[in-house]
Amino acid sequence: MLQWRAVKHRMTQNDLLRRLPQKRLFLLRELGNLADEGGLSLYLVGGVVRDLLLKREIWDFDLTVEGDGIAFARLVADRYGAGLAVFERFATARLAFPDGFKMDIATTRRESYAQPAVLPTVQPASIEEDLSRRDFTINAVAVQLNPWQFGRLLDPYGGQHDLRARTIRVLHAGSFQDDPTRIFRAIRFEQRFGFRLERITVRLLAQAASTNLIQQLSGPRLQNEILLLFDEHDPVRAIARLGQLKLLRFLHRRLDYTENVKRVVTAVPKALAWWARRFPNSVIQRSIVYLMALSSESSPVVVAAMIRRLALSRERAKDMSAGGRRVDHALKRLTNKGTMRPSQVYRLLTDFSDEALVLLLAKQVSAQPRARLNLLKRRLAEYMKNKAVKTALTGRDLQAMGLQPGPQYKIILGKLLDERIDGVITTDADERVLVRKWLAG
Ligand code: ATP
Ligand code: MG
Repeated sequence: MLQWRAVKHRMTQNDLLRRLPQKRLFLLRELGNLADEGGLSLYLVGGVVRDLLLKREIWDFDLTVEGDGIAFARLVADRYGAGLAVFERFATARLAFPDGFKMDIATTRRESYAQPAVLPTVQPASIEEDLSRRDFTINAVAVQLNPWQFGRLLDPYGGQHDLRARTIRVLHAGSFQDDPTRIFRAIRFEQRFGFRLERITVRLLAQAASTNLIQQLSGPRLQNEILLLFDEHDPVRAIARLGQLKLLRFLHRRLDYTENVKRVVTAVPKALAWWARRFPNSVIQRSIVYLMALSSESSPVVVAAMIRRLALSRERAKDMSAGGRRVDHALKRLTNKGTMRPSQVYRLLTDFSDEALVLLLAKQVSAQPRARLNLLKRRLAEYMKNKAVKTALTGRDLQAMGLQPGPQYKIILGKLLDERIDGVITTDADERVLVRKWLAG
């Protein structure tokens, strides 16, 4: 009886991996064999195992090796012709298989935090210790891959229990202090899965959020967490949650989830959906749109400080600064009933990124009353079409026509483009006629 139960147990555990596509399952078996030959223990670990337990789709694998993970990764890369990137400091390696599949291989380790909020130092350790340094019980799970243990689930902290109870729970009281990024991770998982923060965890989180721990996080680390959160399927509730937990002040102490901001943020999904339907080729960084929406009512000084705090790239910084008053100004003109030539719309919008245009739309969707939304959509559609318009003539042609090179080239070509966009001229010959006319005049 006992034996049967053990067999049955083993079967259910194997079933966990059987949810993987055949090809991936096969690969894991081979890797398990390879590890065994080298006397190493190999595990699938963390979020991947959580997602298997949740029956969610798996994208990439995270593996961990009791022993030298990097050496094992080299072996795997050789055997499968995979690309390899090694991160010595974190004792990890990333593999890119020829079919595009990605895999991280780490060394099981313990981490020590010399100071709160900075990256830890790492030392090799057992799988048990490795699981004990993880963020939440639902992520502190592993599945062994060695042949005789293939499919054995390691769940020392009750991860399965918490998955069933739909709970996010830290492993120890100092968790958020060790690593305040876990505050944002907690919200990310809570919102993604529709789980709840466990009672003590929520208290620890609130405690950590009431100190200046998050302030000590570096710009890139904070940026990473915020953008990951805003890249989730439905960031609106996550942003509201940040507001509720008084976490927005870490982007800027004067940033607040006011009713106005909330209206704009809430309108973003609608604007994004319209945009994706209408312009399927425009690739939008959704997280940036949400970040812009969040700061859309803030003054330029506040936005500039947020850009610095998050150490945003120059390109993102440009988007963000366009987000406030410039969007408002453009919106005012675009929703004005008075006629606007297509070239005027073009000139007004040409400096905006597509993200800023989505924000512009979201602002109008959220406006009360929601006037002239159709006019705005028409003008946006027209603009997106006109973005592709080019003049036939170039600077070289102007030179051939006897015009001295200089700043007037830009003016003339710009005027030609306007006439093209407005449909006044349509051919190469039209352009030449017009240039001659201007030169004569
Ligand atoms: P996602 O589905 O968003 O990728 P994930 O759980 O896989 O979520 P990753 O950031 O990919 O998260 O990290 C993989 C695993 O590494 C996590 O499941 C967790 O076990 C561990 N981990 C990641 N970040 C931390 C952290 N800040 N503190 C502790 N453990 C972490
Ligand atoms: Mg992951």
